[in-house]
Amino acid sequence: MYLDCFDDVRELTKELVRIPSVVKTRGEADCAQRIHAFYRQLQYFRDHPEYLLFKQTEDDEVERYNVLAMVKGTKGDSKRTVILLGHLDTVGVDDFGTLAAHAFGPDTLPKLLRELPPGDEVRGDLHSGEYMFGRGVLDMKSGVAGHMCLMRYFSEHPEELDGNIIAISECDEENNAHGIISALKVLRRWKREHDLQYIAGINGDYSTPYHENDENRYIYFGTIGKLLPAFYAVGKETHVGQAFGGLDPNLLVAELTRRINLNPDLCDQAQGEVTVPPISLKQTDCKDHYTVQTAIAAYAYYNVFTHSMSPKDVMGKMKAIAVGAFDHVVQHTNSSYQRFCQMAGHVYTELPWKPRVYTWEEFYDELIKLHGETFTKHFKDFAADMHRNNPAMDLRDFNVRMVEEAWKWATDKSPAVIVYYASTMYPNLEMTGETEKEKRLMDCVRESVDTLKTYSSKPVVTKMFYPYISDSSFMAISGEQADYASLERNTPAWGVKYRHPYEDIAEINVPMVNIGTYGKDGHKITERVHMRHTFEHIPNITYQAIKRLLD
Ligand SMILES: [Zn+2]
Repeated sequence: MYLDCFDDVRELTKELVRIPSVVKTRGEADCAQRIHAFYRQLQYFRDHPEYLLFKQTEDDEVERYNVLAMVKGTKGDSKRTVILLGHLDTVGVDDFGTLAAHAFGPDTLPKLLRELPPGDEVRGDLHSGEYMFGRGVLDMKSGVAGHMCLMRYFSEHPEELDGNIIAISECDEENNAHGIISALKVLRRWKREHDLQYIAGINGDYSTPYHENDENRYIYFGTIGKLLPAFYAVGKETHVGQAFGGLDPNLLVAELTRRINLNPDLCDQAQGEVTVPPISLKQTDCKDHYTVQTAIAAYAYYNVFTHSMSPKDVMGKMKAIAVGAFDHVVQHTNSSYQRFCQMAGHVYTELPWKPRVYTWEEFYDELIKLHGETFTKHFKDFAADMHRNNPAMDLRDFNVRMVEEAWKWATDKSPAVIVYYASTMYPNLEMTGETEKEKRLMDCVRESVDTLKTYSSKPVVTKMFYPYISDSSFMAISGEQADYASLERNTPAWGVKYRHPYEDIAEINVPMVNIGTYGKDGHKITERVHMRHTFEHIPNITYQAIKRLLD
């Protein structure tokens, strides 16, 4: 069977896009409310109101909601359950500049974009009439709309399913993952209350061509992972007139960036697919006003993608890089000093700097050895107070404040670099097909793609890692628990402001596939979704996959 859903998904997408739901704004709740209203008016949820939830997130400084809806199949008595995942929030609209007011108007925006000087490709797509423009059309309200139409269909045809489907429309995907982390708790509760057996998850997040002439459409098993290793570098301050009297932490951080940024040695390869290399997301010193004294400390953090590396692996690599960078800076500073001494007629003596690098775990243990409980108590109180006083504080800022505070307790104040994790981990999910669940999902999706061949003129290709970071990361446990221990012990804010929901995930633990929206320029003013593929082909592939999984 082939669902004739194009018009329904298009209209629903427009309606959702017109509700601005930029992450961390009131709009997230508005959009959730609209989705909830859609489900509530369906006869199925009037008959089964307990299968529909409008649920506020937990431990969150923003008031926002997830919507969860469950349809129980009546074809048999199987407890097998497939989870559909989609996020209702979008990124902001700063990129729209003076057109920001029209970012959420899929009907008016194309006319305004015609007046801009866009590249040839955008112009071509505008005139083709094949695309819908607007913030969130691609990432990923059209995906949520597709899931809603499928849920409506199955709510009217539960007799097609031997098993159940749950659709999650979640908030806060673009920022701190409060949506998915809270949704996991509901999934755990429903699992217990309805004796569910979770067998697979289908995310609908966006996909995009890899280059201008790439005609393929992509479906991804598993997902890329992401870590944010950070480096806090303490130097030795000096007056600019005695430049060799100190060690500049900015130079240490600059050398780290030179070694880490775009370094192909740090690409992670698995199953023939490779991540893009790391790139810096912040690099700054800790001075808050101008002086002629050099900085005392500086820090930087880097996005590191993973296909198979664990937090332990990445920490090992980052520490090794820090040792090499520190050593290089000491040598460089000495050789500069030597040349300067020759030029100025001074006597050169070797500078006192020695490479000194700790992981956060090593540094923290050393402080405990030095100060015992006085330190641990102070440090716990400091963290709790900071969180209480400013619950909305950025997690990256929170972590660096923790390192700064700890440094005050160091007795050896000679220059050092402390390596730690500064943000939420998105674990990689690598699917090998070795477990029964994985194999079944992969077979069902590949068969479903085959059934679409007669409808789509473009090739639909499956790959092994969703490449753009998504909440699929929170649906399964990958690797060993010991791998996560390195994350816990190297994240200063752990347990206060952040912790990976390992136990909740372990209860769900499903293989994931991304059967997602397709378009171009996600997170840009020219964000656009390809309508035929996204409003018709994608829901049909998803429909086929669900039917096969719950046959
Ligand atoms: Zn997305």
